[in-house]
Amino acid sequence: MIVTTATEAAPGRPANEDQVFQQGRVVGVFDGVTAPDLPDGCEHGPAWYVRRLVTRLREALADAPAAALSEVLGQAITRVRGDHPGCDLANPSTPASTVCLVRADADHLEYLLLGDSPLVAEQGGRVVALTDDRFDLVYADIRAEALRGDVPLGSAEHIARQRTAALRKQELTNTPGGYWIAAADPRAAANAITGRLPLTGPDEVRRAVLLTDGASCAVDMFGLFDWAGLLDLVTEQGPEELIRRVRAAETADRDGYARPRHKRHDDATVALCRFGTA
Ligand SMILES: [Zn+2]
Repeated sequence: MIVTTATEAAPGRPANEDQVFQQGRVVGVFDGVTAPDLPDGCEHGPAWYVRRLVTRLREALADAPAAALSEVLGQAITRVRGDHPGCDLANPSTPASTVCLVRADADHLEYLLLGDSPLVAEQGGRVVALTDDRFDLVYADIRAEALRGDVPLGSAEHIARQRTAALRKQELTNTPGGYWIAAADPRAAANAITGRLPLTGPDEVRRAVLLTDGASCAVDMFGLFDWAGLLDLVTEQGPEELIRRVRAAETADRDGYARPRHKRHDDATVALCRFGTA
């Protein structure tokens, strides 16, 4: 497996709340979740949380290299709880992160998804996008109300609507019937979307790319390409080029009228895995 990655903070933002990770045959991308203007009960914040989660995941993988990804992630979440015992870990806005993880063994690519960081794979000559769409399903109405595209990004009205949406999102976080995300509750790992894809035979995966939504928006928000086009761009021109294209699209729609969204720019992360002769 050959892995190439890129990660970049949103322009003008001091910290990258995304992380990219590789340890042996395990690769992951993570997107720290912010709840602007809502008390989160934590003095550390999402950038810290995501870094701790990656550190604890490395340890948990080293301790139990054969364990299922969901078990390893659950262990990492539990260990991060112990890293900030003074914080209010029951707060529904406690720092959180999406997770897109893969592990390649000789015959299979095992994957785990939590939140909107998709895995796009070329498999047997077609391209499939694997996503955890539970957040989108339960959040669709709230998002539509918050992002009507009739006020500019960053205006007082836009900010007020984000806050209302964030409060409603809280009620859905890590609850059955809502959606699951890596935060302070290790049950999220057991509720992740998991599966495996073949690395041999007619349906073998030749290429796979892990994306945070700051990069997958090239397809599902800005419509710059389809998933196959994204995979080809990243393979031929590198992960940085995908982020460059997204930055150009974000800047061309500064106020978010054409593409209503929560923020002008987002942290963006790309990890391309190539197998065999791809
Ligand atoms: Zn904390």
